[in-house]
Amino acid sequence: MSFKRRQFLGAAAALSAGSVLAQPTQPLPFLINLQSSPLLPKTKAKRVVICGGGWGGISAAKHLRRNDPELEVVLLERNPVFFSCPMSNKWLVDVVDTQFLSFSYLEVAQKHGYHYIQTEVSAIERDQKRVITAQGWLDYDYLIIAAGIRYNYETWFGNDRKTAEYTRALFPAAYIPSAEHFRLKESIQNFKGGDLVMTLPPPPHRCPPSPYERACLIAGLFKQRGIKGKITILDPKPSPAPITGGYQEVFENLYKDQITYVPKAQISEVDPYNKRIKTSAGDFRFDHSILMAPHQAGDMAWKAGVIGRNADGKPGDWAEVDPFFLNVKNDPDVYVIGDAVGVVSPLFRFYPKAGHVANAHGRIVAKYISEKVKGREPKYALPDNLCFMLVNTQPREAIAVRFLYWVNDKGQIVQDQDDDNLRRSELVTEDFQWFARMNEDMFA
Ligand SMILES: Cc1cc2nc3c(=O)[nH]c(=O)nc-3n(C[C@H](O)[C@H](O)[C@H](O)COP(=O)(O)OP(=O)(O)OC[C@H]3O[C@@H](n4cnc5c(N)ncnc54)[C@H](O)[C@@H]3O)c2cc1C
Repeated sequence: MSFKRRQFLGAAAALSAGSVLAQPTQPLPFLINLQSSPLLPKTKAKRVVICGGGWGGISAAKHLRRNDPELEVVLLERNPVFFSCPMSNKWLVDVVDTQFLSFSYLEVAQKHGYHYIQTEVSAIERDQKRVITAQGWLDYDYLIIAAGIRYNYETWFGNDRKTAEYTRALFPAAYIPSAEHFRLKESIQNFKGGDLVMTLPPPPHRCPPSPYERACLIAGLFKQRGIKGKITILDPKPSPAPITGGYQEVFENLYKDQITYVPKAQISEVDPYNKRIKTSAGDFRFDHSILMAPHQAGDMAWKAGVIGRNADGKPGDWAEVDPFFLNVKNDPDVYVIGDAVGVVSPLFRFYPKAGHVANAHGRIVAKYISEKVKGREPKYALPDNLCFMLVNTQPREAIAVRFLYWVNDKGQIVQDQDDDNLRRSELVTEDFQWFARMNEDMFA
């Protein structure tokens, strides 16, 4: 046993006996209350710090180490366990179990030789090349911000935090890996009947086709259990998108009695206490609701000061990056990947905010950094996207959408979209194969 470990165990034993707290002059154990100390000693190796261990961050961590085993890679993540949002709609209705969606950060970090530190990133000082966390600070040579999204409850409630917290606790969106998913699952599984209203965020938002998938799977559950439940989808868009035809067919032919689709429903007021919602398409009351506030880049992107500005000079909602290299403008050593990325093309504006894209970004940026460390100029690469949506469980049938990206003669990124509207069982098999491939790429 090393000296440090013996020292720590001894200190931990003393702490549990209460003696350390009883004697304030005694020094605290080295892992406790050292916000002002470095999280790790600096070595000669180049250090890449990754903020956020979701689909983008965990992909980047593995590929950085694979590309260059000399790199020191540190993943900072607030959650103790990776929990996948992709496939989580299926989990809500018991098509897959919790184990299917969860992975141990510690195990995968150990396997690939990077550091995983469970902590809250509280500030990012780009001028100092330093990340501040709840446990201490860390200097970086390169930084990857894989922040995911945050809910912009402020659009609905202004600075009324109490109402935002009440809404998140009682009517969670479950679009961010957290306890919300468990709360939502409990409420769906115990739903006894009545009006369930889902508000969709305005685009761009995380995984555009997934709220409709969720509605279909819940509707299927109600059908199977004979629950007299009505699901109303309040969509600010004029029609479901993507996979418009596929969803319209399913709403019409499978769930006519369960789902009411309301287009052009822009939210003007949400009252979670009295269970009422006002929209441009009318007013609605609910027995239960999945209240999805608008999405914007996750908090770490705001803390790093990488949010772009709108035409009016006010902060936009997403990170401003070079569309090809994903680095922050005028900061070549700081990258943003995944859902937090802002406009990349005047033609389609945003990449779909999808795990598939975040995984590709992680791989791509890992390559950029390892090339730079070797003193080479990286060549740009673009992601693709592929998304399967389960719309029926008896029999199991899915629809899908694919996106490809290329560059036109004006140097703009072009998006080709291919909706696969015909629901069929082969797409369910492909969906599970896709998930297995992604897991292999991130964890194996
Ligand atoms: C219901 C649902 C279904 C979906 N289905 C699909 C699908 O079929 N296919 C697909 O491709 N995509 C799908 N997605 C989208 C996919 O989940 C996201 O696009 C993907 O997770 C984005 O990856 P990311 O790395 O950008 O963000 P995330 O995966 O959200 O990762 C961000 C990480 O940062 C951490 N974090 C945030 N703030 C802090 C902080 N201050 N300190 C420390 N850590 C922090 C978070 O805990 C999180 O782990 C689905 C999403 C949902 C909600």
